[in-house]
Amino acid sequence: MKHFSIFGDPVSHSRSPLMHNSVFKALGVCACYSRTHLHDGAQLRDIFLSKKLSGANVTVPHKEAAYQQCDEVRGIAKEIQAVNTIVLEKGRLIGYNTDADGFMSTIQSFGPIRNALILGAGGTARALSIALRQGEITPTILNRSSRRLGFFHNEGIYAYCWDDFVAAEYDLIINTTSAGLSDNELPIPRPLLLELLSRSKGAIDVIYGKETPFLQEIKVSGLPYKDGSDMLLAQGVLANYLFLNGKYPIDTIEPPMKRSFILQ
Ligand code: NDP
Repeated sequence: MKHFSIFGDPVSHSRSPLMHNSVFKALGVCACYSRTHLHDGAQLRDIFLSKKLSGANVTVPHKEAAYQQCDEVRGIAKEIQAVNTIVLEKGRLIGYNTDADGFMSTIQSFGPIRNALILGAGGTARALSIALRQGEITPTILNRSSRRLGFFHNEGIYAYCWDDFVAAEYDLIINTTSAGLSDNELPIPRPLLLELLSRSKGAIDVIYGKETPFLQEIKVSGLPYKDGSDMLLAQGVLANYLFLNGKYPIDTIEPPMKRSFILQ
């Protein structure tokens, strides 16, 4: 039997085990998928190998650590420098990033978008900013601190911390911080958020399965919005396709994974 797992801190909220196990069951694949609570990201590779995993997903806050520890990184993950999916191939850890493509497939419903403000500067913000730029949507980063902004400056992406940011008009406001995940915080100060929402066309919180304070403010604003469920499904389908080495087409993976959402 093949064994897969998701690494994160926190990780108890993750729907990934249910999503992937539902696909394995529906397709008759002899595999199981578990959670691994990982505090120290530097141990990811050793634990992956000691658990004899065939593949893994990586979530907050270890995507950059996963990028560092893979033997080879493929596709858009190279540019993003963050890995959310690892597949064992001939004893080597191969890293991918399925967040970027997963996210782009979910924003079509907002109509034409020229620019987007991304709150946060972690692995997800990297993925989304590179993907948006490839899709000819101008990304801007806004983070509470400046320590992670170097990546974006090197990429030529506008990036600010709270202290040096001046509010402007953005078509889409996207929360990629973990504010609201296991606390009740907003990702940016409320007056600034309300000003940004009043000038935007829509908003997305990539957190799923919880009505965060950010999502509550969007609902009050009356703007079109999404939580992270669509992105979760899209990135999960792509990851499962990689776990099963492309043997099963995407359209056989998606229906059982989607059905698992109603089991929550
Ligand atoms: P990282 O740990 O890499 O980055 C987190 C970011 O959030 C950092 O920029 C950090 O700022 C900021 N942050 C954390 N807490 C606060 C706070 N209280 N107020 C303001 N900013 C804060 O996380 P990831 O990018 O890996 O993931 C971020 C979120 O996205 C998670 O909640 C995760 O569950 C979700 N996610 C959802 C997906 C989906 O499919 N729906 C896919 C991927 C991620 P600083 O740099 O100052 O520390």
